[in-house]
Amino acid sequence: MEPSTPTRPCWVEIHTQSLERNYQFLQSLAAPETELLAIVKADAYGHSLAHCAPAAVRAGARWLGVTSVEEGIAARSVCPGAQILVIAGVFPGQGRAIAEHRLTTVAWELWQLDELAAAARAVGVPSGSLPVHLEIDTGMSRQGADPAALAPLFTRFAPGSPLRLEAVMTHLFAADETDGQVTGTQLTRLDQAMSRISAAGLFAEWLNAGNSAALLAGQARPIAELAARHGMRAMLRPGLALYGLIPPFDPPFAPEEPDSLMRARTQLQPVLSWKTRVVSIREVPAGAVVGYNGTFVATEPMRLALVAAGYADGLDRRLGNRFSLLVRGERAPLVGRVSMDQAVLDITGIAGVQAGDEVVILGEQGGHTISAFDHAQAAGTIPWEIFTRIGPRVRRAVI
Ligand SMILES: *Cc1c(COP(=O)(O)O)cnc(C)c1O
Repeated sequence: MEPSTPTRPCWVEIHTQSLERNYQFLQSLAAPETELLAIVKADAYGHSLAHCAPAAVRAGARWLGVTSVEEGIAARSVCPGAQILVIAGVFPGQGRAIAEHRLTTVAWELWQLDELAAAARAVGVPSGSLPVHLEIDTGMSRQGADPAALAPLFTRFAPGSPLRLEAVMTHLFAADETDGQVTGTQLTRLDQAMSRISAAGLFAEWLNAGNSAALLAGQARPIAELAARHGMRAMLRPGLALYGLIPPFDPPFAPEEPDSLMRARTQLQPVLSWKTRVVSIREVPAGAVVGYNGTFVATEPMRLALVAAGYADGLDRRLGNRFSLLVRGERAPLVGRVSMDQAVLDITGIAGVQAGDEVVILGEQGGHTISAFDHAQAAGTIPWEIFTRIGPRVRRAVI
């Protein structure tokens, strides 16, 4: 659907109802013990925070997850009542914005807790009221506190501190590994860390762990049981599944997939389609070269269609000469190099193509589907990167 003011025809359509249904389905997998935090970081994986965060809230999400304070402020402006978690933590000087916009942050370093406490005092929040999710490094070596060195962090939650330990958090970094061994080890380390936390007289309401893969692989139950043993509730953080994609598991489950995964295959619906239009058409003779450096040479007289999408829009340059898009319900190969703002399709075998025809880059047309997995495979990456690289100049329209 295009807006009333004509613009360059390269746009994304966001089906917010699919996102709402995906959220509700995922919440039903987690229920009743476990709550979900809807991951809307990186502009909702390129799907548009402004469209997707309110849709998640409409579907029942109480929690949203963003990367940064900046994204948190943007989420707050469209979701005034949500609890918004800043996953990558606070940066120096950002404590005040956290307190003023009622954001919650992940923290694992003393200086982060001190930044937050100083800001909380400056804006005059009552003691024990600025929520913090304390991240434990259970094996990823990315973010999180060393579970053997938590004692100094505990002092920052002493009575009179403005900080409140709302959750203990960790990231399960291999939940897509079918044998579950790494995840099991991580949960054991988390269990030990939580025992240390309660031995220090601290209490957190939430245990915050697990991405889409963890949820679909059936980890919601063990995480909820671990939380319950410590008198806590569990929260999982799906991202990709919210946008309708199922992360691949390695190796595939055999002989049978977990029930949650089987159900997801029939329930989750992709939220995003990406489209452009045919700008102009030309006939070229055999021997004509196409695009930068003539990496494609016509072997016969051909018909070519120019489309208004290039690598500056996120159409990966590696797709030139090795991928096809959909026009008139058929696959049209990308010939020559993908340019910054344009690409060329071979439409020799497709009857009736005209300037103005809709071209599907990602999505469905005429019973064919191009998925983010197809793009990822051709570009040598993962669907998360395909989505997040769709450029900011590509308009996001709600349908
Ligand atoms: C991005 C992210 C997620 C969501 O991951 P998916 O695989 O997309 O479900 C969960 N937790 C953290 C900490 C993340 O950074």
